[in-house]
Amino acid sequence: MRLLLVEDDAALSAQLQPQLEQAGYAVDWADNGVDGLFLGETGDYDAAILDLGLPGRPGRELLDRWRAAGRAMPVLILTARDTWRDKVDALKAGADDYLAKPFHPEELLARLQALIRRSRGRADSRIQANDLQLDEERQQALLPSREPIALTGTEFRLLRYFMLHPNRVLSKTRLTEHVYDQDFDRDSNLIEVYVRRLREKIGTERIQTRRGQGYVFVNQD
Ligand code: CA
Repeated sequence: MRLLLVEDDAALSAQLQPQLEQAGYAVDWADNGVDGLFLGETGDYDAAILDLGLPGRPGRELLDRWRAAGRAMPVLILTARDTWRDKVDALKAGADDYLAKPFHPEELLARLQALIRRSRGRADSRIQANDLQLDEERQQALLPSREPIALTGTEFRLLRYFMLHPNRVLSKTRLTEHVYDQDFDRDSNLIEVYVRRLREKIGTERIQTRRGQGYVFVNQD
C-alpha cells in the first residue's frame, strides 16, 4: 500500500518512515506544502498523513485542494495544535482522523490501519480471498490445515495489494509503485520474481499471468 507523508519535521519523519515501512507501507515523503500538494493531486495513494503547519502551503489548503480534485484517500491530520476548533475545522474540511503531537507511533499506525480498513469497508485486520487469509498484524498468509506461511516484507505488500484489488489486471508498473518506496530501484522485472515466490507459497492458480498486461489475482467469492 502506498502512503503519502507530508511533514516538515525531518526528525519526526525519519522516525516514522521505517516504522511505516515495517508495517508494510511504501512511503513517499514531502517536507513542504508545495510538493505535498502536487504528490497528493497526482499520485495514487491508499492514505495520507498530513501535518497542518507546513512551509510553502498550509496543510489545510492541501486537504481542500485534494478533495476538490476528487482525491478520496483517507487523510489523517497531524498537528501540534490541539484546540477543538482546529479539530472541527480539519474534520469539516474532509479529514478522516486527527492526531495531536506528540503521539506514540503505535497509535498513528493503529489509526492508519483502521482508516484504511474503514475506507475499504472492512472491520477486522484479516483480508480474505477464497480460502486464503492474510493476517496484517502478523504479516502471515493462512490456508486451511496448513501452518501459517511467513512472508517477507515485499511479499506481504504485494500479496496485500493483490488481495485488495482482486479480479483486475494489475500491471507490473502499478504493482511496483505500490510495493516499493520512491527511492527504491523500481525495476518492474523484480515483480516477476516476487510473484513466483508468492505462487510457491500460496499456490500457482491464485495469481494468473496476462501476457503483456500484468497479473490478475483471482477471487471467486
Ligand atoms: Ca509542521
